Amino acid sequence: MDSTVRNYLDQYGVSDATRRFLDKSQKMFIGGAWVESSNGATFDIFEPSTGGLITHGPSGTTDDLDRAVAAARQQFDGGEWRRLKPLERERMLHRLADLIETHADELAEIEAIDMGKSVTFAREIDIQGTIDTFRYFAGWPTKLHGRTVEPSIPGNYLAYTRKEPLGVVAAIVPWNFPLQTMAWKVAAALAVGCTVVVKPAELTSLSTLRFAELVQEAGIPDGVVNIVTGKGSVIGAAMSTHPGINKVTFTGSTPVGQEVGRAAVGNLKHVTLELGGKSPVLVLDDADLASAARAVANGVFFNSGQVCDAGTRVYIQRSVHDAFLDELIAVTRTLQMAPGLDRDCYIGPMVSAQQKKAVAGYIELGLREGAKLVHGGGSPEGPGHFIEPAIFAHCKPDMRIVREEIFGPVLVTSPFDTLEEAVSLANDTPFGLATAIYSNDLARVHTLIPQLHAGSVYVNAHSTIDPSMPFGGFKDSGLGKDLGPEQLDYLMETKAVWITLP
Ligand code: NAD
Repeated sequence: MDSTVRNYLDQYGVSDATRRFLDKSQKMFIGGAWVESSNGATFDIFEPSTGGLITHGPSGTTDDLDRAVAAARQQFDGGEWRRLKPLERERMLHRLADLIETHADELAEIEAIDMGKSVTFAREIDIQGTIDTFRYFAGWPTKLHGRTVEPSIPGNYLAYTRKEPLGVVAAIVPWNFPLQTMAWKVAAALAVGCTVVVKPAELTSLSTLRFAELVQEAGIPDGVVNIVTGKGSVIGAAMSTHPGINKVTFTGSTPVGQEVGRAAVGNLKHVTLELGGKSPVLVLDDADLASAARAVANGVFFNSGQVCDAGTRVYIQRSVHDAFLDELIAVTRTLQMAPGLDRDCYIGPMVSAQQKKAVAGYIELGLREGAKLVHGGGSPEGPGHFIEPAIFAHCKPDMRIVREEIFGPVLVTSPFDTLEEAVSLANDTPFGLATAIYSNDLARVHTLIPQLHAGSVYVNAHSTIDPSMPFGGFKDSGLGKDLGPEQLDYLMETKAVWITLP
């Protein structure tokens, strides 16, 4: 750890537990053992609020992946895990949830230091969401049943279906909600009886490695959960074609997801893809403008805009356009930009220098395209990769800042007149992750909901996520669902059993 990061941890009084973890030499978790990369390679892990070096992570190889898959296979094909009764699986998942809860503050610090996000939100959203996800899925193992059927064909049969776990699941995870996204994939897979190999993002592997220590402490058998860190182009790509893997569940960008999908389906693997977005927000003229402005600002600037379903395109009914924009700018001014460990941080840094450059590039592009920058958009000099939230007004549908996912605190807005126009603007995108509507007229809201092409519709809210509700996009935003009972169906085979009776 360099002195910049050490001073930063001192300044914000980071706990001894977190320091101990960060000072350790980081290893991967394969078959219950803590190992370095088989070729000894490592990658640097940086802290985004200071730009300083935290530590190094092992850069896994395809040999490491082979070992992880073999360990997961062994447990699935007849190891202790496969023989556990459903109630025993439930108990283990609850034990793990308890441990995550016990170490929640430490995990929130690790997440804030590694990813740059607000430590307050990391605790309230990421880590709480992780605990809730494990608890929710812990309730499922005893409730996974098939059906008994009475066939009409000639003959006398007992016909029934069995729900069986798919096998070894590879989870490829992005950097914006590292622990929580991992939890969505791992908790559901373990609940149905699968085993997993996780590849966290290179930028944010640390919370997942700490999580693996808790997996071990919870007594989950070796090889059930394996963590291979390193490059997506090496480990992620090899997962998509690996013969020992039955399913790939990927969260990340649309272009990489398409690559993963092609490779996985080409090898007849099951696949779930949770991809990018450019989610529209409709502010109708009967909305409560003050509370809508707070929710819209939160919906786009939370996590510094690095959120897949961020409401990044806001369409405002013309009669309230100017008043709403004023409210929105006023709320945005109150959002505090600060290092992630500052408990009052709302806008933290971008995850990396590269992400900051990409987002700043889009703000310049918006200006060149003729959009009117009505708030923010500055790139303060370092240290840290900060970008001020930017609001563009009177944007045109064909501008690239309106069409492309920016993945930073950049909001584009424009007015609309009729609801038909609002629907057409909202759906004018290859993505379909989420949409939000702000209105107090339920009849108008219910008329709009079926017309919007998106996996989630939020009304007078944004990004409300609960483990009991499915999450996943339409169109270029993905295939399949995470969370809710729907996710379980994507992790199990249905076996049809026919027994001839006398
Ligand atoms: P990314 O696509 O660059 O990387 C995602 C993961 O894929 C990382 O672990 C990466 O190492 C790995 N990867 C990279 N190249 C790979 C390859 N060739 N084969 C297999 N895996 C590979 O995405 P990111 O920059 O980490 O995350 C941001 C993106 O994720 C945004 O587009 C965002 O919208 C999306 N996202 C979607 C959801 C959702 O639920 N729909 C949630 C969070 C983020």
